[in-house]
Amino acid sequence: MARKPTKAAEDLNLNNIVAAQFEKAAARVDLPCGLLNQIKVCNNVLMVQFPVKFGGRYEMFTGWRAEHSHHRKPLKGGIRYSRMVNQDEVMALAALMTYKCAIVNVPFGGSKGGLQLRTRNYSAEQLEKITRRFAAELIRKNFLGPGINVPAPDYGTGEREMAWIADTYDAFHPGELDNMACVTGKPLSQGGIRGRTEATGRGVVYALRELFRRPKELRRCGLAGGLEGQRVAIQGFGNVGYHVANILHGEDGAKIVAVGEWDGTVYNPAGIDIPALQRHKSKKGGVRGFRGAQFRREPRACLEVPCDLVVPAALENQITRENADRIQGRVIAEAANGPTTPAAEAMLSRKGALVMPDIFMNAGGVTVSYFEWTKNISHMRYGRLEKRLDHAKSSNLVGAIEALVSDKFPQAQREALVRGSDERDLVNSGLEETMITAFDEIAEIRNRRRGVTDLRTAAYISAIEKIGQSYLELGIFP
Ligand code: NAD
Repeated sequence: MARKPTKAAEDLNLNNIVAAQFEKAAARVDLPCGLLNQIKVCNNVLMVQFPVKFGGRYEMFTGWRAEHSHHRKPLKGGIRYSRMVNQDEVMALAALMTYKCAIVNVPFGGSKGGLQLRTRNYSAEQLEKITRRFAAELIRKNFLGPGINVPAPDYGTGEREMAWIADTYDAFHPGELDNMACVTGKPLSQGGIRGRTEATGRGVVYALRELFRRPKELRRCGLAGGLEGQRVAIQGFGNVGYHVANILHGEDGAKIVAVGEWDGTVYNPAGIDIPALQRHKSKKGGVRGFRGAQFRREPRACLEVPCDLVVPAALENQITRENADRIQGRVIAEAANGPTTPAAEAMLSRKGALVMPDIFMNAGGVTVSYFEWTKNISHMRYGRLEKRLDHAKSSNLVGAIEALVSDKFPQAQREALVRGSDERDLVNSGLEETMITAFDEIAEIRNRRRGVTDLRTAAYISAIEKIGQSYLELGIFP
């Protein structure tokens, strides 16, 4: 009996996926082929293997730092701690960083790092030793420095790891003025910036708010109205996922109906109490056992619940050919890197859903990292010079209006009107402006460029043209 032909397995290699996405966009860009290749390839990849001694026992670790493009310096990109991380993934993520920076007009080249480990298997003390040793390897090989290569947090790392990296760099370069700028996403007391921790999540929300200001765009994917009351499903309740959930829930009145974590999905069609879920997760380490929602064992079940917006904010390859048909959301807001495969994206587009691409959506993190880096090299907190001046000017204006109309503003309104801008206000304002400008630029390309129908291709075109322009002006070193 003849065997039924089996479907070819889907290619889930992120490096191949990013390359294919690049090629699709590059075909619509008027640049020499050799230059397009230079923009596509990864310039350097460092692999390190090093031992760490725990008591009397030695353990070997493997890590990478990929430098994708040097058309702008320093290079910028997160460091990921994950059991699954590998060289191909790090190279792909470094390429995404290059394109992301160009899309949001942040003057950095793209890089990414990864260390192969499962963080849950190590104590904080052990993680500190591992991180410091990895940082030392990067310093020795010239893959870390304020003007060279500047890491940030990513999956499995946070401000604690960034502080250890900054301190290790400082130990290798005593007395150098700009040491703090060797890494971003640091704690506030260690040269960090207000608003960085939630920046990636907040950037996702600013992009969604902009989408909901565009009725034509919303109609195309079958939505209407504002963000208030929209049903949102989120995969991953870590740094990015939690902040998206918290801001959408707390500031926009959206209803978070599902949250997926490594240990399962919690679902409540009436909306989940996000601060309560956060308290539960910090105590228990996962979402299982949370009282305010139904529990499903399958982490990916969160992607398939009835909802309007789906926000994958965990790992790559989560929406594939296998589950794309069951996704009910009309907008897929890619907060994670590479969560949707090309086959899945084509299936979603055929259903009329809008995929908002990672290289735009999660660029809020690197945007505010750029603000942190400039704060570190200027050695001055944003708002320090002008806050009191703003306050005095606004007080005078409000006083003049009150005198003119012979009436007083209510106290709370008066305070809001006269308050000078502090660092957080300025950071959020810069982030919002960045996301709106980038949205405008890519929507314009999608709307006007012949044959471009999706925001991802438009975003790649925006990036490739800007990087290409930069190379054309710089010239290529002989
Ligand atoms: P994180 O480590 O803080 O959070 C990831 C969360 O996902 C964790 O809570 C983890 O338990 C959970 N998780 C693990 N396996 C899961 C599974 N199978 N299903 C559902 N959840 C699972 O990481 P993060 O910084 O929030 O990064 C998440 C994604 O966002 C990554 O793709 C990262 O590259 C991307 N990103 C992060 C930043 C940033 O500033 N942190 C910036 C840009 C992009």
